[in-house]
Amino acid sequence: MSAAAAAASSPAPRLESKVALVTGGASGIGEAIVRLFREHGAKVCIADIQDEAGQKLRDSLGGDQDVLFVHCDVSVEEDVARAVDATAEKFGTLDIMVNNAGFTGQKITDIRNIDFSEVRKVININLVGVFHGMKHAARIMIPNKKGSIISLGSVSSVIGGLGPHSYTATKHAVVGLTKNVAGELGKHGIRVNCVSPYAVPTALSMPYLPQGERKDDALKDFFAFVGGEANLKGVDLLPKDVAQAVLYLASDEARYISALNLMVDGGFTSVNHNLR
Ligand code: NAD
Repeated sequence: MSAAAAAASSPAPRLESKVALVTGGASGIGEAIVRLFREHGAKVCIADIQDEAGQKLRDSLGGDQDVLFVHCDVSVEEDVARAVDATAEKFGTLDIMVNNAGFTGQKITDIRNIDFSEVRKVININLVGVFHGMKHAARIMIPNKKGSIISLGSVSSVIGGLGPHSYTATKHAVVGLTKNVAGELGKHGIRVNCVSPYAVPTALSMPYLPQGERKDDALKDFFAFVGGEANLKGVDLLPKDVAQAVLYLASDEARYISALNLMVDGGFTSVNHNLR
């Protein structure tokens, strides 16, 4: 196929002339979101604590003309404010804010032995980090009278027993925060939503494989362990699948969707498991 024919047959870019910021965009699901947003024409700021990975991703996407990397710890308000300002300064505005950075924290789920320094760390990243993202995105979006804010929840946003207590608590809270802020910002034309995936093979989820049972093929082990196939036969959930849901909510196609928690879980949290 000629280049012209390929261009004519490829789908129209869905984020042309949009500006996005993705926290935790240097790796995992965030990286998949950054890559997909670029494919669809957005200018993107990667805001992450991993400088080397973030800069490498920026360079692999063509350097700093359309992609910016800013060191940013989402638990530090000044960092988030700086990332938002740097994005608006470089690209002229901010249309899409993706609060993706997240952390599972301790694996211990014994409430009697809970480590509160760890709990506070998880709250500061997973929940306070999302507050920071919403606050500073709204600062730019309200005068524009438009914008889309998307935060990453999890299946642990709607059911318990899958992750550490602090992870489940913060992920439930992100859904509540999304609904409240959607209620407030709707009058400014700003949509606020959540995307909640089932287990995706990334650095965050891999450590949850049982120790000593890892074989050579980590991905195969991962899907065997989480039972990805049991959700939707023949389909393994990948970072790009989550990015597609985020892309939809970021785009104007979702212009009347707000306060939604979009599950990307193959039905895991809604279907009677005895039917599987
Ligand atoms: P990951 O650990 O692979 O990547 C997280 C990214 O966030 C990394 O680039 C990391 O450097 C960055 N980050 C961590 N702490 C940060 C901080 N304080 N400030 C800025 N950046 C920070 O994780 P992932 O699996 O890609 O998860 C992304 C989001 O999706 C998280 O919110 C997570 O809770 C959620 N999620 C993941 C899964 C899964 O199975 N992987 C399932 C459901 C929900």
